[in-house]
Amino acid sequence: MTQHFFTGQNPNITTETKAFVTRYHGLFIDGQTMPAASGETFDVFEPSTGHWLTSIAAANSEDVNRAVQSSRNAFDTGPWPRMTPAERELILFRLADLIEQNKQLIAEIETLDMGKPVIEARDIDVMESASYCRYMAGWATKLDGRVTQLSAGPGNFGYTRKEPIGVVGAIIPWNFPFSMACWKVIAALAAGCTVVLKPSELASLTSLKLAELAIEAGVPTGVLNVITGDGQNAGAPLMAHPSINKASFTGSTAVGKMIGKAAMENLTRVTLELGGKSPMIVLGDADPASIAEELAAGIFFNAGQVCTAGSRLLVQEKIYEDVLLELTKVANNLVVGAGLDESTQMGPLASLAHKEKVESYINLGREEGARLITSNRDMDENGYYVSPTIFADCTDTMRIVTEEIFGPVLVASSFKDIDEVVSRVNNSSFGLAASIWSNDLKKVMDITPRIQAGIVWVNTHNPIDASLPFGGFKHSGIGRENGPEQIEAYLETKSVWINHADS
Ligand code: NAD
Repeated sequence: MTQHFFTGQNPNITTETKAFVTRYHGLFIDGQTMPAASGETFDVFEPSTGHWLTSIAAANSEDVNRAVQSSRNAFDTGPWPRMTPAERELILFRLADLIEQNKQLIAEIETLDMGKPVIEARDIDVMESASYCRYMAGWATKLDGRVTQLSAGPGNFGYTRKEPIGVVGAIIPWNFPFSMACWKVIAALAAGCTVVLKPSELASLTSLKLAELAIEAGVPTGVLNVITGDGQNAGAPLMAHPSINKASFTGSTAVGKMIGKAAMENLTRVTLELGGKSPMIVLGDADPASIAEELAAGIFFNAGQVCTAGSRLLVQEKIYEDVLLELTKVANNLVVGAGLDESTQMGPLASLAHKEKVESYINLGREEGARLITSNRDMDENGYYVSPTIFADCTDTMRIVTEEIFGPVLVASSFKDIDEVVSRVNNSSFGLAASIWSNDLKKVMDITPRIQAGIVWVNTHNPIDASLPFGGFKHSGIGRENGPEQIEAYLETKSVWINHADS
């Protein structure tokens, strides 16, 4: 039986990773690791093998109260919101350096926990998080209000102040656990807020590591608390807690709607980053062979577990079959395997339940009559692997086209002209992202403003930059992350009117 348990003997992990993964994992409150009040834990499994990896404390509402109280105290009376902006900025720069110095450790933990290729975890997730941290650190010193021109005349002076919103309750999913944790926490800290973070029960470990690094960087205790556990027992009480001032959620549209309703009960400010079914629109002037690899990355990066995944491909008729041919070659040759193997291009899915869900959509695609054009490969049955899958000749009413699958499954169809493709991509409840593939500038400039999506990429899909706002139209969410728009979401505006006229 022993070989069914994580032994830490994997030659591809460092001793630091082994030490971290095999140690006790509790809640992180007031700078201390502690068990849940109930003493309960939940199990975590390694996606590449299906073996047990570790157990983590399972929080309930009592633990949520403790964590929120700690963040409340840290905000109401602690040093963080009272520090100078320059002091906060410096601490966050230090945090960015620590993230970078720990990149291999964080990446290996992430790969063991949720399966993604370690190279992607390290060179994309962790390194981009360090850049993001530096970008947001810089905002700490630039949160200016403005002077207004009051019409009341001389003797009256008006200005605005930007003040931190308060205690933030933040919930993240499992697809980019470390990046999402950074996105939720660091902008809020730069604004002077304090945070209670609940990571997904499928990938909690790197959030716990982030909390430790924050302390090491000089973030005072209580400013960042992490509660681990599931949505119902830990997530829901956090979002409904009357002592949080801001609810910031990334996850599915279904859960996001519930959180939005709970937040309104207390008039808690809310940001929701939700699901998508993002189209990749290929115009007839594109060269199929030269874009095939990037299109494939648009859907198969992170095994399709990307909110902005280019999961819907629409190709202009005259190059439709050529694009499918080139894309299928790339998909059939992708190296699928364990994330710790550095030759792996696509890892397993994050959990057994999610693998089964994605497989059920592949079966549904066959039943709905879509044309399966990728080869059905033999996958290692122990891990949560799914073949890169492409369905051609899909119609817009198929469920595989309208619903978010969140796996390595692409649904493709052809279109005649621009009016048709614009109307078809907008006929979706989602509006997160889209990409246009063409060198015809006039057509690109015509289509871009007509697409109902928060992000439009041209000749690329999925890149992200800390400076460029990220978020969705319609059922893909409310609010933006990244850029000054994200910092703004953690601030309240206070208007000040001073009467300095002689009385
Ligand atoms: P999910 O909604 O099931 O879970 C997300 C988080 O919410 C987890 O931490 C979970 O424990 C928690 N949760 C679940 N039920 C809850 C409840 N009732 N109250 C409070 N919290 C609850 O989503 P998931 O499966 O973890 O992630 C995949 C989804 O996330 C996809 O829909 C994807 O598109 C979306 N996503 C969106 C973005 C974005 O920025 N727009 C980024 C990444 C993922």
